[in-house]
This record gives sequence, C-alpha cells and structure tokens, in this order.
Amino acid sequence: MMKTKKGIGVSPGVAIAPVVVLDTEEFDIQERHVPVDHAQAELGRLRKVVAISRKEIQDLRKRAADRLGKETASIFDFHLGLLDDKVLQKKFSDLVLGGHVTAEYAVANILRGYAKEFLSMPEYLAERVKDIRDVERRLLRNLIGQRQQLLSHLTREVNLLAHDLTPSQTVNLDRRHVKGLAIDAGGQTSHTAIVARALGIPAVVGLNDITSEAAGGDVVIIDGNRGVVIIDPDPRLIEEYEQYSRQQVEFIHSLDTLRDLPAITKDGHEIALLGNIEFPDEVTTVFDKGGQGIGLYRTEFLYLGSDAEPTEEDHYQAYRHVAELCTGRPVVIRTLDLGADKYTQTRARIPERNPFLGCRSIRFCLQNLPMFRTQIRAILRASVDAQASMMFPLISNMLELRQAKSVVRDVIEDLEEEDIPHRADMPIGMMVETPSAALQCEAFAKEVDFFSIGTNDLVQYTLAVDRGNEKVASLFTAAHPAVLMLIKEIIRTGQRYDVPVSLCGEMAGDPQFTLLLLGLGLRTFSVAPPAIPEIKKVIRSVTMEQALQVARRVMSFDSDMEVTNYLRVETRRILPEAYAT
Ligand code: PEP
Ligand code: MG
Repeated sequence: MMKTKKGIGVSPGVAIAPVVVLDTEEFDIQERHVPVDHAQAELGRLRKVVAISRKEIQDLRKRAADRLGKETASIFDFHLGLLDDKVLQKKFSDLVLGGHVTAEYAVANILRGYAKEFLSMPEYLAERVKDIRDVERRLLRNLIGQRQQLLSHLTREVNLLAHDLTPSQTVNLDRRHVKGLAIDAGGQTSHTAIVARALGIPAVVGLNDITSEAAGGDVVIIDGNRGVVIIDPDPRLIEEYEQYSRQQVEFIHSLDTLRDLPAITKDGHEIALLGNIEFPDEVTTVFDKGGQGIGLYRTEFLYLGSDAEPTEEDHYQAYRHVAELCTGRPVVIRTLDLGADKYTQTRARIPERNPFLGCRSIRFCLQNLPMFRTQIRAILRASVDAQASMMFPLISNMLELRQAKSVVRDVIEDLEEEDIPHRADMPIGMMVETPSAALQCEAFAKEVDFFSIGTNDLVQYTLAVDRGNEKVASLFTAAHPAVLMLIKEIIRTGQRYDVPVSLCGEMAGDPQFTLLLLGLGLRTFSVAPPAIPEIKKVIRSVTMEQALQVARRVMSFDSDMEVTNYLRVETRRILPEAYAT
C-alpha cells in the first residue's frame, strides 16, 4: 500500500531506491524480517556478535581485576554467564530461525523479556536489570556497528532510513551507493541535514516514525525538495517522479554556465560567494560550483570518524591539504566546535543533560587546553603562505574571546622558540551565533578582524528552539523579526568599525533570503557548495536598490509568517525555476 509521509526537506533532489533501515541501540528495535533463506546467515551473524561481545567483557573483567580487584571484576561474571546461557542461546536461534527476524530484533525482544522477569523478583535480583540492559546494548552496538560497516561498503543503490545518524555514521557513508536519506529526527540545521546537503544527497528529516513505517527492501521515493517520502509508490508515480527529477537535474545543469561569472548585482555591486566545507575534498566542489573560497571550514569532522584523538600531524595534514587545494584563495578555518550534536564517539557515551547549553565548542576547547593548543599549532603551521584566517565558534562573552586569543599568542611564542615555520599575523575572527555576542557586537568589533554570523545557532538561542528537534522544527526560522534585528545590527556594527561580516549559517544558502541579506548590507555569503550557483543566480538577477526596498519592507513586519510569505513572492519573481514545485 502506497503511503506518503511529510517531513522537512533539507537537501534537494529525488532518490528512488529500495531501503536499508538502520536501527539505533537507544531506540525501540522494530520487528523486521529477513528472507527465509537468509535466516541461517542471520543467526550466524548473531553468534559471531555474541562471541565478540564475550571477548570484550572478558577484557573488561581483566582490566577491572587489575585496577580494582577481583571482587569488583566479578560483576562481569553475570554478563558472561548470561551470554553463555544455553537457554538464551536456544531462544535466540528459535526466534531467528522460526520467526525469520533480524538478529537485532531477537536480541532486543528476548533480553527485554528477561529484564521484565527480573524486575518482578526480590530486590537484590531486580538490580540485575541494569546488567541485562548493559548486555543488550553491547550486543546491539556490535550488531548495528556491523551493519554500519556494511553501509560503508554497499554493492547496490539504496535509500537509507534511520532514527538519526551519528556524526561518525554520516562521515562513513558510502557516498556512491546511498542515494537518499529519510530520518525520523532532526530539523533544517541538524548536523545530518548539513552533511547531507554537503554531500549532495537528497534528504528529508523530521519524519518522526519513518523507520517503523517502512521495512528493509521496500522501495521509497525521497523528495528532498518538497520534504516528502513515499513508501511503496505505484509505477505511475515513479514515472512522474523520474520526470520531475530529470527537470531538476536540467535546472541544476543550466546553472553551470554561471560558474566562471562573478557574483555581482545588476548594478555592479560585487559580492563574495564562498563555500562551507566539512571535509578537505569538498574544496574542489566549491570551486567547481563557482565559489571563490572557503568561508567556513568545520574542522570537528576530524574527530567524528574514530575514537582516536587526532595528532598535531593529523590536523596539520588536513589543513595543509585544504590550503593547497585553495591555491591562494581565502579559507576561514574554524577552531573545534565539538559538543552538542557534533560529539566525539567517547562523549556520545556520556551525554550531557542540556548539551546545546553545555560544554560545547569554545567552552570545551578552553577546558581542554592541550587539545586546543594542538589544533592551533597545526593551523598556524599549515597557514604559512596561505590566505587563511582563524575563527572561534560560539563566543558568548568577552573573556572567552580574550582567553582564546591569548592561547594563540602563547602558541605563536612556542613556535617561535622552537623555530618552526608558522603564520604569526593570521587574521582572527569570531562567529556571532549567540544573542549575547550579537547584542555586544560593538565591543567585540574592537577585538577581532572579522565576524561570521552563524544563524543556525543564533536562531536556536534567540528563539529558544532546539535546532535538531523535529517536534519544534516549525518554530525554527531565520525569518523571525528578532533574529533579523540582530543580523541587521551585526552587519551595521561591522560597517561602522570596518570589520568585515560574513554569514555562514544555512540561511545564506536559502535563495529566499538573498535579497533581504543584500539589502541589510551583507557582502559575503558562505553556503553549502551545491547552493552556490542558485545564490549566484539570484545575486546576478537583482539590483541593490531592489534589495534595499525588500529589506526595508521586511523590517516593518512583526511576524515570521509575513516575512516568509513576502520573501517567497519576491524570490519567485526572480527565480521561478527554483520554485517549480
Ligand atoms: C551556525 O551555527 O550557523 C554555524 C554555521 O555553525 P554550525 O552549524 O557548525 O553550528
Ligand atoms: Mg554554530
């Protein structure tokens, strides 16, 4: 039965393919089936994971015994006993072979049953529930990890469905075979959305329960333009979508002609149009799409793929690679913005209560100075003879900025003493992405070389709307007058103090805001690489006079609805092809 689900389209394009569903250990594992003739192999997979998990627990027990004594280590005996239990093993094989279910489902179903039984027992036994849960999670983590590995070596084209993707999952996706993403969680600016856009994979997020509605092997259409996912579409609809997809591709190709043309308004105002990157390789895409440089290099992706702490050399190689690819064009290297949704694997296991208000970004760096210094050394070393600048994220008070700058000064002194080549006069800027920084931007303007407005965070903190929470996604909008007032003020202050201002949040890549931002005085846009041609097209189709009028009108509105409706009409007039839906 064909079924349509509405979510938030975060990366344009259409993908039609059978699905692979990725479960998450923290969430309910759905009952999913495997073909009858795959059941034996599925049981083999489960047995292998039991053996791996057993080995992990033995190692843990040994380490605990060495450090904390035999008695403490004995808590792992229960875990081992459970895995060795013949009754449990029989239950696993009965359910997988008899019910043709996935190994993940068998583990979750049977161990949750065990946990329930223990709960009704005397108190000292009820304590065991935690241990059972622990074993369950270990098995699931290993099973899902195995599937994840499969995901990086796919042999056919698939649409990937998941509750959410962790940064390491997104980083390791097999980009050739994953055609589209449909995600239960998230909003416009969640990290999965940003990465999908960067990779040019059509994606819809905020679907709530797509992972329980579709089963592995179902064909689905992911329509990243309209934010729709269709499960089990009929052949007529598939044909319609194939045609629609061809039109979209044609439109995108028609913009290729803009590549070597400048981003200049009809009346001659030149705009700097730069790209945001997560991975060094993306530099080439930015230039292929007609961008002039890199306005935001998100360096935390160095951390998200593995548990190992990158060395100074790892950092250095990545930045050097980016600098070389840029061949003299500008690049803004942002220092680590770890935490909240961009967590390392180790931190993912110790969640914070309120991570977006917690120890993230510059706060995390200032609390982990050796790590911060390592990165800064690498940036300064890699930037010799590059047109690079350094930028600090999430500054929310003056002390943070001064501390961060003093770390840079210290590192420069060290490098000088050690006689290591480095860039000593690197321009230093900050992201303005908290309301406190925006309101105090005049004071900050006296202490930095440039500002970059991070609307993804500025919107979330100004409107008190979590950028990754699908339940409040409709409240997340850069069109809110309060956000626009802050942006206007930051740009104006920059002009007054001769501090260049760019905007690198997702707002900059949304053609609906281009006129408004030009009219507010923005002269540097940094956007996801696939958005460069479209934004250039808008810039080249307007005059500054038009933009000023639009901005004046917008600033007279008092609700985001009025702003959005008005901007939609104005933009459609200029670029009807982009809104041919
Ligand atoms: C922002 O907050 O707008 C931004 C560009 O940074 P990130 O999305 O990496 O938090
Ligand atoms: Mg940010």
